[in-house]
Amino acid sequence: MTSKAHAEKGKVVARDVARGSGGPRPHPALGLHNAIGNRGINRLMGARTRRDPDYRRGYLGIATCSEQGVVNTYVPGEHCAGDCVQQHENVHVADMSLCCARYSSCLNSAPDVGGRQQCRESWLDYMNHLEDYTECNAYQTEFDCLTSLLIRECTLPGASGAVSPDCCKKLDQEHANVTTMITRHCPKAVPWPCPFP
Ligand SMILES: [Zn+2]
Repeated sequence: MTSKAHAEKGKVVARDVARGSGGPRPHPALGLHNAIGNRGINRLMGARTRRDPDYRRGYLGIATCSEQGVVNTYVPGEHCAGDCVQQHENVHVADMSLCCARYSSCLNSAPDVGGRQQCRESWLDYMNHLEDYTECNAYQTEFDCLTSLLIRECTLPGASGAVSPDCCKKLDQEHANVTTMITRHCPKAVPWPCPFP
């Protein structure tokens, strides 16, 4: 996805959250959806460049290991209700934190620039191999989060009414997208050993 598309999607999400219950206007993302279809959307949501050391939940969230050895999360595009994207990113934190700290130790104990470069290359290789495993974990947590949110706020007759019908529709679409991501990542998920002692 281009950075422009990123920014555009971010704006759409932010505006939608700010608008709250929504209005008669069709959701701007529906135009995109109609244009490229489910598979296109899923491709965009899974987009990640090979050299990028971060785990991205499409444009919705990110978890990244700093060279100080801490995994930080950033969630610019939480769903219209709940904290399921944050929960997704928190799984990456849990999966990456130990090796991220060791990566930082590798950098700190490297004798020179070349040594630090080797640490970085080992980290990138580790991240590439860990991707299916940690995305499988993260999407399963997001799936559970969305499922209980949909049941609680959109299905049960006693729902609080805090989540608008418009938002329920979007949550349902996100649930479908997440299901696709589970079928993509989980069959290939293998826990990868951390390359640092
Ligand atoms: Zn993720």
